[in-house]
Amino acid sequence: MLSVEEAQEQLLRGITALEVVDLPILEALASVLARDAYADIDLPPFTNSAMDGFAIRAADSQGASLDRPRWLPIAGEIAAGHPGDTALVPGTAVRIMTGAPLPPGADAVIPVEQTRAGGGDVGLLEEVSVGASVRPAGGDVRRGAKVLAAGTLLRPGELALLASTGHARVPVYRRPTVAILSTGDELVEIDRIPGPGQVRNSNATMLAAQVIQAGGLPRLLDNAWDTRESVRAALDAARDADLIVSSGGVSVGDYDVVREVVAEHGSIDFWRVNVRPGKPVAFGRVEGVPFLGLPGNPVSSFVTFELFARPLLRKMAGHRALFRQTVPVTVEDRVPGADSRRHYVRATVRRAPDGWRATTTGAQESHLLTSMIGTNALIIVPEGIPGIAVGEQAGALVLDAWL
Ligand code: AMP
Ligand code: MG
Repeated sequence: MLSVEEAQEQLLRGITALEVVDLPILEALASVLARDAYADIDLPPFTNSAMDGFAIRAADSQGASLDRPRWLPIAGEIAAGHPGDTALVPGTAVRIMTGAPLPPGADAVIPVEQTRAGGGDVGLLEEVSVGASVRPAGGDVRRGAKVLAAGTLLRPGELALLASTGHARVPVYRRPTVAILSTGDELVEIDRIPGPGQVRNSNATMLAAQVIQAGGLPRLLDNAWDTRESVRAALDAARDADLIVSSGGVSVGDYDVVREVVAEHGSIDFWRVNVRPGKPVAFGRVEGVPFLGLPGNPVSSFVTFELFARPLLRKMAGHRALFRQTVPVTVEDRVPGADSRRHYVRATVRRAPDGWRATTTGAQESHLLTSMIGTNALIIVPEGIPGIAVGEQAGALVLDAWL
């Protein structure tokens, strides 16, 4: 049996980042930058005021104090977006707004809170030094400098920097398209009442949602019956996908035909991974497209997607960090082990003043959908450990990016 890490390593070995596409900047959110990005201008583009106040020469504030203000005549006003063409005359002040260009001759801004009004004059209540409340041109970024390195994850802040430096379109690794195949004679659609022996197809929706959260684009294939012809026909529509994920039909049941069809049209490795839930996982290629066959039990599908499909998608999308973070947690109820297998236990983690705490979501059989409610982490019980007692420490894989 393979360990989870061995299976992940084998899976990832043949996978490389997809090609580079130029996207409108907002569509590049959560993608990975594929080329270094440079600044086409200085940031800030011009020297400007950091405060609403008065542009002055710092020397003119010499000796100013609350008791003995220094009074300067107000010679004008500069608003953001309205550069003036007149220089500051020594011994005068110009009213200035945040982000407005500093007039030539001024070398400091005194915030309005440190002044007093008096007719057409302004009283300076403090001394300011050269450069105070001034944001120099190029102080953030120099024109021509590299602002982001290839491989950077694009979050809202990174997009702001790209926007400021002129990148209306951004080169990123393409997001993988994932074809999702549900197999089983017992499956019916959500809007139907299941007849005798039937269940609603919940895996398709769940896996598609997991694909979206992993940064991929899901495409649902027609459901396949447990016949070779049906599986073959459904897979036929997946030739242009970057990855095929199937659920069901890969264990050792008589009707588990997915493996056979994949083997006919490519190659397949059938793995027993030393993990619960989700021991049987199949990996291969169908007409060259990577294929991951997950078990049908909903919880097993969920966990094996997390462990195996997600890192694969992230590698395709050019991410450097492929795996979820593991945080140390104190467990608040007993966490069962799974004998010689590693157990991933659905849990809710939360931050407490003294660190992370975790509570399991209850019974852990792999068909129990209610056990997924509130699951934002998986507690890891290592191989061969009978369980984790209340108050003890464990590692938990954090699934929720919004904690
Ligand atoms: P299998 O892996 O095909 O042997 O299926 C294992 C269990 O998962 C069975 O109880 C199936 O009915 C159930 N199952 C398989 N596929 C789905 C699905 N798409 N949605 C919900 N349950 C499923
Ligand atoms: Mg089945």
